[in-house]
Amino acid sequence: MEEMNYLFTAERQQIVDMSLKLYREDLIVGTWGNLSMRVNRSGTDYFVVTPSGMEYEDTTLEDVVVLDKDGRVVLGNRRPTSELGMHMKLYEERKEINAIIHTHSTCATACAVVGIGIPMMVEDMIQHIGGNVRIAKYALPGTRELAENVCHAIEDRKAVLLKNHGALGMGETLKAAYKSCILTEKSAQILIYAKNLGHINLISTEDAELMVDYYRNQYGQQKDAKR
Ligand code: 13P
Ligand code: ZN
Repeated sequence: MEEMNYLFTAERQQIVDMSLKLYREDLIVGTWGNLSMRVNRSGTDYFVVTPSGMEYEDTTLEDVVVLDKDGRVVLGNRRPTSELGMHMKLYEERKEINAIIHTHSTCATACAVVGIGIPMMVEDMIQHIGGNVRIAKYALPGTRELAENVCHAIEDRKAVLLKNHGALGMGETLKAAYKSCILTEKSAQILIYAKNLGHINLISTEDAELMVDYYRNQYGQQKDAKR
């Protein structure tokens, strides 16, 4: 292992804290699911990732692994997540993304088992995720094929379902990635409830585009908000 000048203490702790939050909110269970962050130090990207197959409740800051852009471990003695290839491929394709969370949350996984994505039904999901949540074709966990299927299906969105497996959410920050996961799970739950109640009315592509634009450029406390 090469000499490492950075400790990434804050980022490793953020990963531990977020893992526990996801665990306590039932978005991940046991050792499954995984989290990562892209961190830039003096112009170089590093990746802070959860260790493979460790109980979240027992995972400490020292267990969180730091890798360089070539996938070499530069900090930590644990093996990184088996889905490292999927995370790295997404970071490669999506330069604006700095955090990725792969969950096995219940309602999203129910949709993934049936093989349906989540259509454009509600404001919050459309605004944050950028439209519908598509579903990636099935491939075995930890394979290059799964990484490719996920990258292909997610396109410009911030979340995707993994057929017969789970879900993945990402964002510019770890908090934004969490929001992608929680909105995916909530929307999947709405889809299941709504399908049981009756006909599902969708939001038009035109309205969805207006909403995404509004969310990105005006919503909340942004400067120059027009309404
Ligand atoms: P890891 O424990 O290796 O991160 O794998 C869990 C998982 O969810 C695989 O898809
Ligand atoms: Zn998984």
